[in-house]
Amino acid sequence: MAVDTHCHPFLMEEEPGAIAARAREAGVGRLVCVGIDPESSQASLAMAESLPGVFATAGVHPHSASAFDRRAGAIVEELLAHPLVVGVGETGLDYYRRLSPPGDQRRAFRDHIALSRETGKSLVVHIRDAWEDAFAILSAEGADRVVLHCFTGDEAAANEAAVRGYFTSFAGNLTYPGAETIRRAAAVADGSRMLLETDSPFLPPQTHRGAPNHPANIIETASVLADIRSMNLDQMLRVTTAAARSAFPLIV
Ligand SMILES: [Zn+2]
Repeated sequence: MAVDTHCHPFLMEEEPGAIAARAREAGVGRLVCVGIDPESSQASLAMAESLPGVFATAGVHPHSASAFDRRAGAIVEELLAHPLVVGVGETGLDYYRRLSPPGDQRRAFRDHIALSRETGKSLVVHIRDAWEDAFAILSAEGADRVVLHCFTGDEAAANEAAVRGYFTSFAGNLTYPGAETIRRAAAVADGSRMLLETDSPFLPPQTHRGAPNHPANIIETASVLADIRSMNLDQMLRVTTAAARSAFPLIV
């Protein structure tokens, strides 16, 4: 069984029940629906409540960090009290697109880390072109059980994540011809803390490019990661599912 540790069904056209059923048929028995704002976090929890094997997170994406105000924080905090909400985020820093000013992103990131510490729920982190600041803030704020989603760092970042005990999550972009840097990072990542995700509907793996991504497609990314790590697909699914359970202990 595979776990898609990061997807956004509320951004997909298909109906949630159909998404979960198609994933299950492909052997993807657990989905973590990751919220990007208060409304999508609520929608993720609604999906988790209505479908077995589906879990949610609550948070505000760094792109919308400027909108992470008191009201948004209160909604996220309330959602985090629910046992089907297994993580805080996605949060983090995106200095590539800078859709919210970096100062706002850092403020919201610190607030999410505090919520993760207070609730004991895993921190789902998005980092793009902001490794130095992100690692510094994670240390300064004492973040625990950190998931680096859609890992796009280099070998040095993967090594740093391993030293810190962070989980590194690989998405469909691992399979792209130009993704040598990510594949080199995947080769040195901590083998007991590697996760798989689709980030659906984004980043379809190579043979599905041009169409919206789907949790069922995670198997293609798993095969590529298995090749990189000189494992077979079964071994890779076993290792990454075990890692998903330690990254998100509330997944049952
Ligand atoms: Zn995402």
